[in-house]
Amino acid sequence: MAQRKETPTPLPSPENLTREQSEAVEKAAFLIISAQRESAAMLKRAGIPEHFFKSKCTAHIEAFGQCPCGDYKGDGGPCENHVTIDHEAVPIPRDRCNHRASQHLPS
Ligand SMILES: [Zn+2]
Ligand SMILES: [Zn+2]
Repeated sequence: MAQRKETPTPLPSPENLTREQSEAVEKAAFLIISAQRESAAMLKRAGIPEHFFKSKCTAHIEAFGQCPCGDYKGDGGPCENHVTIDHEAVPIPRDRCNHRASQHLPS
């Protein structure tokens, strides 16, 4: 007798999402980041360092490692924060993070 095993549904990877779904993910991610910004402003007013909550980028850059972007900047679209990719190069190249809002949240 074959037994049906209950396997937990894995989180769909971004590539497997429909356009509608990934838009919802980005909107939801931006909502969280907006709330983090608001809470950071609240802490600042209370005299607590405002960088207490940061929406650090978790994207992986080929041949580099984790994206050095430390805080999401933008309004829901690709991140506009400028990051330094190569500390050895002269002059140090500065590039846009360009990663999605959802990549700035721990998953
Ligand atoms: Zn970023
Ligand atoms: Zn990034």
